[in-house]
Amino acid sequence: MKTIGVLTSGGDAPGMNAAIRAVVRTSIYNKARILGIKQGYNGLLNGDIEEMNLSSVADIIHRGGTMLRSARCDEFKTERGINKALNIIQVFGIDGLVILGGDGTFRGAKNLKDAGVPVVCIPCTIDNDMGYTDYTIGFFTAVETVVDAISKIRDTSTSHGRANIVEVMGRECGDIALYAGLAGGAESIIVPEIEPDIDEVCRKIIQGRNRGKLHHIIVLAEGIGNAYQVAKEIEDKTGAETRVTILGHIQRGGTPTSFDRIMASKMGNMAVELLLSNQFGKAIGIKCNQIINVDLDEALNSEKVFDKQMYEITKILSI
Ligand code: ADP
Repeated sequence: MKTIGVLTSGGDAPGMNAAIRAVVRTSIYNKARILGIKQGYNGLLNGDIEEMNLSSVADIIHRGGTMLRSARCDEFKTERGINKALNIIQVFGIDGLVILGGDGTFRGAKNLKDAGVPVVCIPCTIDNDMGYTDYTIGFFTAVETVVDAISKIRDTSTSHGRANIVEVMGRECGDIALYAGLAGGAESIIVPEIEPDIDEVCRKIIQGRNRGKLHHIIVLAEGIGNAYQVAKEIEDKTGAETRVTILGHIQRGGTPTSFDRIMASKMGNMAVELLLSNQFGKAIGIKCNQIINVDLDEALNSEKVFDKQMYEITKILSI
């Protein structure tokens, strides 16, 4: 293993840069050549590839986004796309790939693996929707962003005695809502994994109002439906003025938290170590605070389990 390629694909996540830095520096430390592939799988199809050195990754550990840029690439899902990629891999003399991204990116990586390319994947997505790992890179940074927003909204919510819905990302996975809701002291959390009960939300608003509570924060994951409709229903049933804040792509950016940087650094380092010791077709993760690796197929087949116990705690603490 002498030449390693690294790419970032799919939705970007804060901490990707810290992982790229770790991949590049661990490769160079081990005297391997390291190539940066631009714009996800697109760069692998059109040869948008550059050799990296120690300074290529200087001054990026604290930056959100990805210096290699990211993109979606439909052609890569086709057999033609895979064949093009195999050709570029051969032309550039790439012996192994470190692939950073989410679930979709991992599926693309599996196709490469099945075609005989040595790959190791690093989980990067703010959604934390991958079942084989406790956390994904970028998740806790997104949670921090949401908690910061909730704190600000809570101030104005209190001043005006309003209810506020904060819509966060997470189409199928309510983890951002769950974690940020607990850390932000939200009164109600609405996630795709649990059947929503708007009447219960309304009861809480009324009970809170009766005991002199001025604010009411509802964190709602985007997958659950239209926040404005929920707000209207709450207003109709409680009479409480209800405002909606949709945080959107703010959650995808910003300087990564220390946890994301540390996890990214360890995972990037392990990815290269695995490739250099001829251990391929792996996905790196974190379980019980240990950096682990599992077979890519196993990672893709692991079902994400919602933390119901944590959800129950948020309910108890927001009575
Ligand atoms: P994420 O990695 O954040 O989940 P996407 O689902 O958009 O993001 O996937 C990123 C890229 O990975 C896609 O643009 C495509 O190139 C590749 N990809 C996604 N799903 C598949 C699949 N089922 N088979 C092959 N490649 C895929």
